[in-house]
Amino acid sequence: MKFADYALSEEIVRALESLGYETPTEVQREVIPVALGKQDLVVKSQTGSGKTAAYGIPLCELVDWNENKPQVLVLTPTRELALQVNEDITNIGRFKRIKSMAVYGKAPFHIQRAELKQRTHMVVGTPGRVHDHIERGTLPIERIQYLVIDEADEMLNMGFIEQVQAIIEQLPNDRVTMLFSATFPADIAKLSHKYMHEPAQVEI
Ligand code: AMP
Repeated sequence: MKFADYALSEEIVRALESLGYETPTEVQREVIPVALGKQDLVVKSQTGSGKTAAYGIPLCELVDWNENKPQVLVLTPTRELALQVNEDITNIGRFKRIKSMAVYGKAPFHIQRAELKQRTHMVVGTPGRVHDHIERGTLPIERIQYLVIDEADEMLNMGFIEQVQAIIEQLPNDRVTMLFSATFPADIAKLSHKYMHEPAQVEI
């Protein structure tokens, strides 16, 4: 199956072509149809499997371009991953003119605050700084419809899990949640039970 065979708009298919993505990877084949159907999803997969595009492609498709406030929140354990995901999503959403931005610690707060005032479809960030922006009212969350928790086990290892929970509890309840992790220690399984609704399970 090729990307052109999915229910994806021409702008997204064209962006994938320009990135040189011809056929979906295994995790993409499993995740894209479920995500397009707006079902919660728990995915066990490693980095390098193409997992970023597995959620990036359907989310770029689902985003309503006309909405000014963020619709997608992606949480990552590190700033490097936040920047990488932001770049990948920006590339996938290029011809749809999707605006994604990365927020992370140890970078000036006021610059991120100013950028967040512009139309922003997707926000990718580390839990500490995302939580900070929510607390200070500089990241509006009332229109968030999609939450991705990427590398959840790393988030746990780095001691971010309480901040992740504090963020989730403030998000609108009628959202889609996708959790990606290479391993599933008890705390991650608990997180998915507590905050997800009958998730589809994918294991690569
Ligand atoms: P990730 O697992 O998200 O870190 O992706 C690993 C690498 O695979 C990245 O460099 C992506 O740009 C690349 N990639 C993702 N999906 C595809 C695809 N369908 N075809 C070719 N390369 C891909």
